Amino acid sequence: MSFETIFSAAADAMLLVDNAGVIVQANPSALTLLEYSAEAMCGLAVEALIPVSYRNHHQHQRQSYFNNPEKRAMGKGSALFALTASGKKIAVDISLSPVYIKDQIYALTTFYVAGHRREAEEALRISEERLQLARRSAGLGVFDFDAKQNIVHWDERMRELWGGDSDATISYEKFIEAIHPEDREARQTALILATDPTGTGEYNAEFRIINAKDGTEHWIATTGRMHFEDNHASRLVGIAQDITERKRLETKLQEQRSETESIFKQQVAARTASAIAHELNQPLAAISAYSEVALHALSDANFSTDKLKRALEGCVAQAQRAGTSLHELLAFLQAGNIVVAPFDLNALVKDALNIARSDGYKEFQPALDLEQNLPQVLANRIQIQKVLVNLIRNAVEAMRSIGANNATITVTVRTNQNLNMGHVSVQDSGPGIPPEAVKRIFEPFFTTKPTGIGMGLAISRALVESNGGQLWLEPNVESGAVFHFTLPFAP
Ligand code: ADP
Repeated sequence: MSFETIFSAAADAMLLVDNAGVIVQANPSALTLLEYSAEAMCGLAVEALIPVSYRNHHQHQRQSYFNNPEKRAMGKGSALFALTASGKKIAVDISLSPVYIKDQIYALTTFYVAGHRREAEEALRISEERLQLARRSAGLGVFDFDAKQNIVHWDERMRELWGGDSDATISYEKFIEAIHPEDREARQTALILATDPTGTGEYNAEFRIINAKDGTEHWIATTGRMHFEDNHASRLVGIAQDITERKRLETKLQEQRSETESIFKQQVAARTASAIAHELNQPLAAISAYSEVALHALSDANFSTDKLKRALEGCVAQAQRAGTSLHELLAFLQAGNIVVAPFDLNALVKDALNIARSDGYKEFQPALDLEQNLPQVLANRIQIQKVLVNLIRNAVEAMRSIGANNATITVTVRTNQNLNMGHVSVQDSGPGIPPEAVKRIFEPFFTTKPTGIGMGLAISRALVESNGGQLWLEPNVESGAVFHFTLPFAP
């Protein structure tokens, strides 16, 4: 039986390749497997059947095979692929045998497509297809950096991102040339980290690429894994994605955040200034009044030193009070820990009424409804005194504005049973608060008074809350206004 007959009848795909790497003959199984016609196959360089990235390597291997021809398997057991005419990669085992025909040496190349290989191939094809789909829809590029040859294998999407030409590989130098100079160092650091054989081999970097074709700048996120051979980083396989849009949104968000921050800072500054003005308004008005009294006294030829002394003492006291107020206000604004101590609410109410009177808010009758033996509350006494004086002043101003005849301020102090807290109410016989203003009176800067600042209630509420209580306006009262606040009892 001739070689020809066996060759043609063999179930395995076989090729006869001459020592120049030209296919001189292919059996029908080979034509089927590799999807070639006999005419197309004969005369073809055998490298045409080798995936592009292995072609160079194969050429050297082929030459050395013909220098030392022997019967052996190709590729020393590693997975091999043959490229079909339609560009499909199929996994094969290949064996080589030298054959001599008319003094010429040929390599008889046999392809074995084992059953499990076929299945694996099919599964691979399906999973590759899925991967391709996912890759395409996510716009992912795939790269494979061969550290030994210093080249990068890249797919079409990568070439598109980098603005590269259609070559399946690019030199590593050219590959990193496209990276924005400012981002090279950070990327290099990520690479060095992945190269550490004691590490995880994970590679993650974000950098800008300047597209070689159109000069546009794009942000790229890459992630990959380093492979090691004998403890040396040999190969980095990874994906790359265009994240320019995400970066743009991030920058915009950042800008918005700093803008909001600066608006907030301006507001805080404005509020702080207003709170200071609120604290200084009263003592400054008093100092001015005392000074006028003093000047007036001096202009009198036989002035009384007593009168002058009282006026100047008034000035001193008011100036000191302004200083103390500012000091406390600053401490409060700096949100430091406030000093709390137990005190008697009934006594505080009486003090506050006296302070308001001595500040010039005299035109009212106090009506006190105090709970005897009320437990002590735990709060900062000076701050709560400020709140009460402020509520009393507002009440007097409201009653003044309508020229109320029987101006009365009723202060009630009791235990709020529901909350188990000390509870104070301040009621006046003024005009009350119009419905359209009710919602706004606690807002900073809300005022209906010609020289008002509109910070009194805002500060009072903040003070009560920072002492663990609540401050609110009673809704729907028949006449006047009623404000309430609560404070925790001392344990
Ligand atoms: P200001 O006293 O500087 O206006 P406030 O924050 O203390 O600031 O008060 C805000 C506004 O609430 C006042 O301008 C006034 O319209 C209203 N208001 C407060 N207390 C009373 C009250 N007892 N009766 C009527 N209106 C009041």
